[in-house]
Amino acid sequence: MKITIDPALCRSRARCYNLYTDLFREGTDGKGEVIITEDFEDEDLVVDATSAANACPVGAIILEY
Ligand code: SF4
Repeated sequence: MKITIDPALCRSRARCYNLYTDLFREGTDGKGEVIITEDFEDEDLVVDATSAANACPVGAIILEY
C-alpha cells in the first residue's frame, strides 16, 4: 500500500496526524503529511491507513493498493 495526501483537498482537520501517529504528522503548513512514503505491506499499518482515509472529512487521503 502507498499513501498520499492531496494538498489541494486537505483542510488541516488534523484527524490523520492526531489519530494515526505512526503514519502521519503535522506539516509546517498545518496540513497532514505522510511519514511512510514508500510502499508497505504491514497489516496493522494497512488497517490504520484505511481507517485514516475513512476518517478524513474531505477525502484527501489517497490509498493505492
Ligand atoms: S484528516 Fe484529512 S483534512 Fe485532516 S489533516 Fe489529515 S488529510 Fe488533511
